[in-house]
Amino acid sequence: MKNNFLNNVHFEQEVLVFDDYNILEEVDLLNSYPFDSYSSTPDLHYVNHWKKNLKKQFVSEKNFHGDLLYRSSKSNIEKWAKYTNISVDELLKILEKNNLKEKESNQIEEDKDYYEMKSESPFNESSILGVTPDAMQNLSKKYKLQEASSLYTELAKLEVFDFNSLLRFSKHFGMPSGLMDDIGFDIELDGNCLFFPFTSISVLNKKIAIYKQDFEWFKVIQTKNAPKIRSMIPESDLILINNVDENEAVVNYAKHHLTLLLGRLDAFNVSMHVEFQNGSFVPGVWFSDLFNFAYFQIAKALSNNVEVRECDNCGYIFEVTHKRQRFCPPLPHRKRSSCEMAYNNRLKREKKLKGEI
Ligand SMILES: [Zn+2]
Repeated sequence: MKNNFLNNVHFEQEVLVFDDYNILEEVDLLNSYPFDSYSSTPDLHYVNHWKKNLKKQFVSEKNFHGDLLYRSSKSNIEKWAKYTNISVDELLKILEKNNLKEKESNQIEEDKDYYEMKSESPFNESSILGVTPDAMQNLSKKYKLQEASSLYTELAKLEVFDFNSLLRFSKHFGMPSGLMDDIGFDIELDGNCLFFPFTSISVLNKKIAIYKQDFEWFKVIQTKNAPKIRSMIPESDLILINNVDENEAVVNYAKHHLTLLLGRLDAFNVSMHVEFQNGSFVPGVWFSDLFNFAYFQIAKALSNNVEVRECDNCGYIFEVTHKRQRFCPPLPHRKRSSCEMAYNNRLKREKKLKGEI
């Protein structure tokens, strides 16, 4: 591995993971949550805290409509349309209209017109993703980000508004993003922990849509898939590329494009800090959520020019760490690759079926 400071960056963050998450149709369902089971004086303070902040989460998300319009793929907008039961054309019109309003306003909640547009936007889903009441009393496990080397490729397997993929991911890695607070929970957060018990469905799905699109560029660059890159470049840019028939020229275009995407404030943008440990100062970085960490991993993978391969089981790409690897690596707390096990089980079943015929 070449000398690259991203390989030596120090980070000690851990992620707290709950056993189970579910979809809540509206914030009022939080009323039945055991928020005060740790407190000797039960009150409404905790539940109101979460309700208030979850209602605000979408409104506080700056450039929501513009981001979704320009930074996600058409197929993800189609998935959104399917979920909301509004046609793709109609959704695109709303995105364009609200994007203009976002641009024209100073995007503060005190601005009445802006606030109204945000709270009434059809993208402002009332449902939230959150820990289940049972799991809330059982913080099952944690893992170190340092050990989650496959997080960025696993995160790319999420699909917009596909709750099964989201719940599967969250059970292993924790919810990728959301509101971070320990109010009403029997833990005390310190700076080294990531902990997301609840989030707005809209905000999370927007992050997934953008991440997937950015990751797609990473994938086509690392697999040198020139035909696919040509299909991803807008017509207006395609005619500007010299030697567009040469694969290298389009791969270079993709590299420049991904560099711009990673330059966004909500992409590859880590916070630095200094810790005092065992008598000396240790510089390190701090991640705000799992998307933030995944972008760091993409940047690192690009600068190390890692090899990626399609998994024989699920078809998604993984980072190759040993030569003969054919499957996605094991998830945190697992010894064996779940893709490898699923693949072998399927082979076994198929052999058994053949034997019976
Ligand atoms: Zn796989």
